[in-house]
Amino acid sequence: MVHPDQQEAPPTMAHHRNETRPFRRWPRLARSLVAYAWAAPCSLLGLLLGVGALACRGRAEVVRGVLEVAIARPGTAACARAGRLPFGAITFGHVVVGASGDALTALREHERAHVRQYECWGPVFLVAYPLSSLFQALRGRHPYRDNHFEVHARATDSLPV
Ligand SMILES: [Zn+2]
Repeated sequence: MVHPDQQEAPPTMAHHRNETRPFRRWPRLARSLVAYAWAAPCSLLGLLLGVGALACRGRAEVVRGVLEVAIARPGTAACARAGRLPFGAITFGHVVVGASGDALTALREHERAHVRQYECWGPVFLVAYPLSSLFQALRGRHPYRDNHFEVHARATDSLPV
């Protein structure tokens, strides 16, 4: 007979999510500092893009530890142009740049999955992501939809596949 204290807790969704987070056994603050530092070169790229967006009268706010920058305010000409961008939002480290505030809200969980990928892969992600797209294209598959990181991001957010 197994003592109740020796029984392992059944896996839960929270347990599963923790397995995808790097440095999960470290104290929370140390884990956060390492994750921010490891992703910092990528976040710097996002900051440069974000500054450009702010120069176009965008807006920025920190949401759950991630800087979100909307390229344009609703109802502006810049917003109409931003609506023609080939993406709703794009993540670089701990910076997410979105076409609009609405796009940032709608895509928040998906982009957070990418933030976790940056925390795990760091600067290597900037090479790994396009290589995955190239690999899928060479296999005759869709370079975005079938990208390994997109598949995993969709698996952990609430977006339809
Ligand atoms: Zn994505």
